Amino acid sequence: MKYKIHTIMISAFMVAGCSNISTQQGSQQTSDFEYSNERFADLQMLRYRVDGFEDLTLKQKTFIYYLQEAALYGRDILFDQNGKYNLRIRKMLEDVYVGYQGDREDKDFKAFETYLKRVWFSNGIHHHYASEKFTPEFSKEWLLAQTECSDEIAEIIFNPNLMKKRVNLAEGDDLVQTSANNYYDNVTQEEAEDFYKQQKEAGDPKHPTMYGMNSRLVKTADGKLVEKKWTTDGLYGSALTKIVENLKLARPYAEDEQQKKVIDLLISYYETGDLATFDQYSIAWVQNTEPLIDFVNGFIECYGDPLGLKCSWESIVNFKDLEATKRTETLSSNAQWFEDNSPVAPEFKKKEVKGISAKVIKAAILAGDLYPATAIGINLPNSDWVRAEHGSKSVTIGNLTDAYSQAAKGNGMLQEFAYGPDEIALIEAYGDATDDLHTDLHECLGHGSGRLLDGVDGDSLKAYGSTTEEARADLFALYYLADPKLVELGLLPNEDAYKANYISQMQNGLLTQLVRINLGSNIEEAHMRNRALIARWAYEHGKQDNVMELVKRDGKTYVKINDYQKLRNLFGELLAEIQRIKSTGDYAQAQAIVETYGVKIDPELHKEILDRYNQLDIAPYKGFINPVYTAIRDAEGNITDVEISYTESYADQMLRYSRDYGTLPLVNE
Ligand code: ZN
Repeated sequence: MKYKIHTIMISAFMVAGCSNISTQQGSQQTSDFEYSNERFADLQMLRYRVDGFEDLTLKQKTFIYYLQEAALYGRDILFDQNGKYNLRIRKMLEDVYVGYQGDREDKDFKAFETYLKRVWFSNGIHHHYASEKFTPEFSKEWLLAQTECSDEIAEIIFNPNLMKKRVNLAEGDDLVQTSANNYYDNVTQEEAEDFYKQQKEAGDPKHPTMYGMNSRLVKTADGKLVEKKWTTDGLYGSALTKIVENLKLARPYAEDEQQKKVIDLLISYYETGDLATFDQYSIAWVQNTEPLIDFVNGFIECYGDPLGLKCSWESIVNFKDLEATKRTETLSSNAQWFEDNSPVAPEFKKKEVKGISAKVIKAAILAGDLYPATAIGINLPNSDWVRAEHGSKSVTIGNLTDAYSQAAKGNGMLQEFAYGPDEIALIEAYGDATDDLHTDLHECLGHGSGRLLDGVDGDSLKAYGSTTEEARADLFALYYLADPKLVELGLLPNEDAYKANYISQMQNGLLTQLVRINLGSNIEEAHMRNRALIARWAYEHGKQDNVMELVKRDGKTYVKINDYQKLRNLFGELLAEIQRIKSTGDYAQAQAIVETYGVKIDPELHKEILDRYNQLDIAPYKGFINPVYTAIRDAEGNITDVEISYTESYADQMLRYSRDYGTLPLVNE
């Protein structure tokens, strides 16, 4: 499972200005590093810093070097999985792009360049998120004047009725036949479903492997269904062989014996395609928690297949963020104090509470389905029985969330929506640090706090369960952010810092999160409902004491907090009530409170917020340019150092990847 930026993007772009107490800053901070890079179509390219890489040992750097090579060699696989013409189209477009002799400022060429950049970004001709095929803004005639593009390929690019969607989920359609991905060939949805039903019935019901996850299902000329497996000597063999080669080069530098075992199992799985071996690999990987460096390399997520069986290839190489992990460990080791001192009624508290040590990592490279658009948190493996019996690893990728929030600085959001200079100053000084801490409190303590009364069914709040659960975790965070205990523990610099988070959370819940909803729609997503619920409940219940105001100025609405301590008390009151609802399974009250505060939107306010947001012209989707790792070698070829740089442009990186890591033939059958 991936946590995409759209689930928490608001808190990231709410925080603008420059923080001097960000915990993410490392020793190599340079002033000329630019988080934001170029912008095209609906996309903004960003860069992320890998602070701390230079401080790793040579052995660790070398390990990362080979793992990132293994990551980059898989790039072509995803292009081909996303559509069978993608590699041919990419090659043709790149040849035109490099060889073009005309005016590169010409309108047609510009439109062509944007199209190519979108194809690179999406690993194919369909939008990375919406999955619809792009419409080129240059003509077929213009393209044909540049290159001998075949009719077949030109049709695929320009005919809007061919390969319309990469993943079609429209009820009633044959989802397999109407999806343009390359996971099935000449197969109907019914045939595919029957095929895998049979496999499932023949397998071990307690420990089912993830049937079909690493193959293309093909109907042969004589009508037989066969799986073409993605293995070193099967489909995608030339890419997987390069991946395995680099995993073998990485292996001697692994951090412990268990990690060597992880690599061995992964190699064996790539060589055989055996899914039981993949489960063994997943178990070994989950148990390998000690090393600083960790990685994912494989067929992992199945969002690209409408049946949810076939997994797209991806890789991430990362290492622990020791600074940030210290923070979460401080919270975890004080978990009992937080539980004992919460405003919740004693009968709903846990007698013995264990904090969860959420790991914060830094990405060193992103590849496949994690590049350039990426996740900010990952929870793996996906196999249910492996999770149930062996657990899972859950991480947040700190240097990516940091890059999002740094890049948001100066996008105008804060200046547009903050009430005044005092609010802006607080957020500029403490926004980043309190945002991180809010997330830590939410994840490490909030979700783990409280208990159900005996006999209460955990599912009794039904459709209101996840909103209530998120509200509980957020309120726990909000209540404790203002507690002097956090200053005492060294997690906040002073007793005013928390105000930055109160401002951004209330602005978000009352105003700015509405930018992600179309005019006329309700709030649906659980995290968003939770934020609206908390902010609106606190606003209504604080009215009498004028705790918080909605101020109108020149037709624009602003949030003004008048009494932070009273606001904290309101959060405490609501936390106690939400915990009571959860502990007793009070469905009627859960429904009442969510429907009253968390769902409906005032259309007039909604329109105002959308208008103000649209004027800022912020790109809705973002992705990352990777850093470049260069191995320095001595005369014998031994690596003596690995250098990292952040200067490569987006187009140069994509062209280099196609040239140096292009591993597959253009047609893969
Ligand atoms: Zn949560």
